[in-house]
Amino acid sequence: MTELLLKYFRSKQQKVQSEKLFETQCPYCSMQCKMTLVEQSIVSRKKYLAIGKENPTSQGRLCIKGMNAHQHAFSRERLKYPMLKVKGEFVRISWEEALHHIKENFTRIQREDGQNALAVYGSASITNEEAYLLGKFARVALKTKYIDYNGRLCMSAAASAANQTFGMDRGFTNSLSEIPFTRCIILAGTNIAECQPTIMPYFEKAKENGAYLIAIDPRETATTKMADLHLKLKPGTDAALANGLLKVIIEEKYIDKTFIEERVNGFEKVKNYVVSLNLGEIEEITGVPREKIRKAAIMFGKEASGMIFTARGVEQQTDGAKAVRNFLNILVSTGKIGKPHSGYAAVTGQGNGQGAREHGQKADQLPGYRSIENEEDRAYMASVWGINKDELPRKGVSAYEMMGKIYDGEITGLFLMCSNPIVSNPNAYFVKEAIKKLKFFVAVDLFVSETARLADLILPTSSYLEDAGTMTNVEGRVTLREASYPCPGEVKHDWQIICEIARVLGKGEYFSFSSAEEIFNELRMASRGGIADYYGLTYERIRKEGGILWPCPELDHKGTKRLFESSFAHEDGKAEMVVVPNKPVIQKDQVNDTFPLYLTTGRVMSHYLTGVQTRKSAALAARNVEAFMEIHPTTAKKYRISDQSLVKIESRRGNIIVRSKWSETIRQDTVFVPFHWADSQNVNLLVSDELDPDCKMPGFKVSAVRVSQITDFSAN
Ligand code: SF4
Repeated sequence: MTELLLKYFRSKQQKVQSEKLFETQCPYCSMQCKMTLVEQSIVSRKKYLAIGKENPTSQGRLCIKGMNAHQHAFSRERLKYPMLKVKGEFVRISWEEALHHIKENFTRIQREDGQNALAVYGSASITNEEAYLLGKFARVALKTKYIDYNGRLCMSAAASAANQTFGMDRGFTNSLSEIPFTRCIILAGTNIAECQPTIMPYFEKAKENGAYLIAIDPRETATTKMADLHLKLKPGTDAALANGLLKVIIEEKYIDKTFIEERVNGFEKVKNYVVSLNLGEIEEITGVPREKIRKAAIMFGKEASGMIFTARGVEQQTDGAKAVRNFLNILVSTGKIGKPHSGYAAVTGQGNGQGAREHGQKADQLPGYRSIENEEDRAYMASVWGINKDELPRKGVSAYEMMGKIYDGEITGLFLMCSNPIVSNPNAYFVKEAIKKLKFFVAVDLFVSETARLADLILPTSSYLEDAGTMTNVEGRVTLREASYPCPGEVKHDWQIICEIARVLGKGEYFSFSSAEEIFNELRMASRGGIADYYGLTYERIRKEGGILWPCPELDHKGTKRLFESSFAHEDGKAEMVVVPNKPVIQKDQVNDTFPLYLTTGRVMSHYLTGVQTRKSAALAARNVEAFMEIHPTTAKKYRISDQSLVKIESRRGNIIVRSKWSETIRQDTVFVPFHWADSQNVNLLVSDELDPDCKMPGFKVSAVRVSQITDFSAN
């Protein structure tokens, strides 16, 4: 297919003077679609075409984001040199000067304010090698306990739930190739049609094969339109809905008794709790008619195989981890896991959402999913790194909690890598004020993002076209992104930047890497024997085999396509069910007379995360130039809001101004705003700072707001 497309592309061009092909992967979502970027020189200009490349995951498909990803990489706004803020303006400096500033300031901060006064904030868009190296940098070079990353705001609830129920967390317990053969699918809080478009054919094939699709979402989306049954619940009530489903499944005797007896702990307690619940009360809490709850439960329960997919709609809540656990309760009590065409997936948002959470960027974690508080794990990692285990810091705090420590003056220096926390964190006013208080702030980025604007020093990093490394995709498949495009200006790769800073800090001996592959080989050793065991993977194997699913503990191991076939990863081999109350312990942002509407947030197809990259792509930006508020026409009329008018949305934290968009597809008690825009359109200014006690995930999906049309512009 690549060849055919290339032939067609060439036939359309005239006067092509030369042509180059670059093999790469899309930098955006967790599908990590493989592609070939064609660069043609035509007279005095260059023309580009991205063509999807055959591979086991995306099978040659690309969505609109992947087709246009190169536009941000070639943007004139790319940072090309280190930039130091002098009297409020960024000025170009050399790398030598930049490293000197870092050495002086990092040393001064740790001398004046203590070892843990420096913090590191990472990303789930960087490669496995860089995520690994960043964790090592924090623990070995800076010796600080404060490191966390933006994946905390994305995947932590699902990871926590899977770890607690199964004893390990891999995005998908199966490979995507099993989806077409499953009989019933629950898509809970996931809009895959817009967020991971190239995954859709797997579900379309499942439907063609007769699978029954159940979608759970407060909005009608391109995904729910494909479903046979849509449960349009009130935002934040997923845990209660799962209780309703489980109650019917148990009462209608769709449980798998043998599976429960042999492989599950905690079923009786859960059973006693859910059968005591009243379906009418669940209907009231969730807003989903009980007949629909019954139908969904029966359809899922009666089929021989089934899969459950969750995403941020369920997870980004202050009881997100428990809500996911309740969906896992359904899965294990029906025995639909560890067998063909049955399993669970947390559909990862960020490109390396999976790999970046496995190798040491999390506050409490060491590579290979080892724990920083476990003595054996500490000893093992210390031996790999050649340090004394007592030198390893203990666990730190989560991403948003680090912002609190910055605000309180406990953390006074920050090293930020490829993330935009003043847009992506909840309570974003507070986060911005916190960041402004830092004594010294270094940001590594492709662009001057909204957060980088506040930095003292910005270091230019390479894009997906230039930086090689492995990424672990939505399946848990480790893929290799080749790099072939030269870096512009004086840009360096993330890993080179980390190594150079370590060197000037006197820790060069631990960071003497000359390629991403060398780092990967150390990561393999570091993960060996851990839950996320990459030891059996090599660049050569990944290239040859088109990606391999971990765990892969030996060089002759084929990788693990399906997890939990004979046992779960807890010591006794059993899955752990837990009672999940209908109402969360933590009080979610409540609607009342003053703030009468639920606000929920999410994505649009043409943008990615806080939009730092996609807003720089002309083709993508043109599709959605600004944020908007989706509102039901009945609700809009009630609040005198006309379609396409400017509206103020206010929560208990602040307000934003966006354009209204009438839509009959949303619940009348809910409005929706996408989160890809910054400043006065940053919806996270409205989100509360309550965190899930299990995993520290903020409650992005449920805020209480009021809305009003702006008529007097001078008042805003
Ligand atoms: Fe593939 Fe996701 Fe990129 Fe689209 S955004 S091309 S689905 S990796």
